[in-house]
Amino acid sequence: MAALGGGRDRPPVRPDLSSLSGYHSAQVAVEVRLNTNESPLAPPAEWLEAYRRGLADIAFNRYPDREAKELRAAIAESHGVQPERIFCANGSNEVLQSLMLAYGGADRSVAVFEPTYTMHAHIARITGTGVVAGRRTDRFELDLDEVARVLGESRPVLTFLASPNNPTGRAESLETIEAVLALAPGLVVVDEAYGQFAPSSALEMVERSGPGSDRLAVVRTFSKTWSMAGVRLGYLVAHPEVVEACELVALPYHLDASKQLAGRLALRFTTEMETRVAMLKEERGRIAAGLDDLPVESWPSDANFILFRPTSKPAREVWSDLLAGSVLVRDCSEWPGLAGCLRVTVGLPVENDRFLAALSESLR
Ligand SMILES: *Cc1c(COP(=O)(O)O)cnc(C)c1O
Repeated sequence: MAALGGGRDRPPVRPDLSSLSGYHSAQVAVEVRLNTNESPLAPPAEWLEAYRRGLADIAFNRYPDREAKELRAAIAESHGVQPERIFCANGSNEVLQSLMLAYGGADRSVAVFEPTYTMHAHIARITGTGVVAGRRTDRFELDLDEVARVLGESRPVLTFLASPNNPTGRAESLETIEAVLALAPGLVVVDEAYGQFAPSSALEMVERSGPGSDRLAVVRTFSKTWSMAGVRLGYLVAHPEVVEACELVALPYHLDASKQLAGRLALRFTTEMETRVAMLKEERGRIAAGLDDLPVESWPSDANFILFRPTSKPAREVWSDLLAGSVLVRDCSEWPGLAGCLRVTVGLPVENDRFLAALSESLR
């Protein structure tokens, strides 16, 4: 008998994955990093101090609380809902993956409306779920006739909205979300990674049990507004049955003890978070005004980033000019529906000054 494995080839990856490429966002050393919509500010020093002290009390030889009871209770309290309505995971991307593992799979599909957050379709494909993509209008708005057409034709099990939408910036009104809920045959997932920057939140519908809200899942993250992208923590607020479905597919003990502690403590610093959000919103206005004076087209934003399209020079060249000035923004110019577009994250005032100066230099 031949030695086990001798002379055999490594197996190819699943055929349905071979056309996919992983998540790409440049991680290069620059002075001004405005490409991934993180917070430019560290969490409060008091949070770090409390976290350090809390770490000393963790029994590291033991598995963490599998149900993350204290963390879920704290998040639930912050939204005025029961803890049975909260599911936590390692970043909101893992929440999205859990939803697709639980509800997607062969012979099922999810709907997205492009241009939107590309991970929705990407994670769907990884989980072997079909993707149907509707289009947004030229102004990147949702067109309810298009929504009705796509949902009516393909009957998706999950319908994804990002609100505010990444990378285009606008939040959906509650009326629009209600209209989508009325049209959707399954769950509507509203990804609110930038929810705290927006004028309204679909959480209001969950909190007051509005029409269709038992088919609504709102996803949030600590990565952006909470200044905790390095922690990897996100959650959803939904009907308890949706939470149970996600728990079914989560690996045992998937949330480590230090992460549960970090998230729980962060919620004690809501005021500080809101102060950071207010500063960034003000800076967003300043960048928007700066862009108005330059040869670029830009779109109003309810988030901590702004999408813009240089009109006097190709986007790729502008991106390179900015990089040469040690300012990194996101190049969306090759993404479907976003020809010629770049996206800048709102940073600290000095960083935004650097960005505006480098941009006007490039477009001069
Ligand atoms: C940044 C972002 C996320 C965040 O993902 P995490 O895994 O929580 O870091 C989720 N959704 C959208 C639309 C985003 O832009």
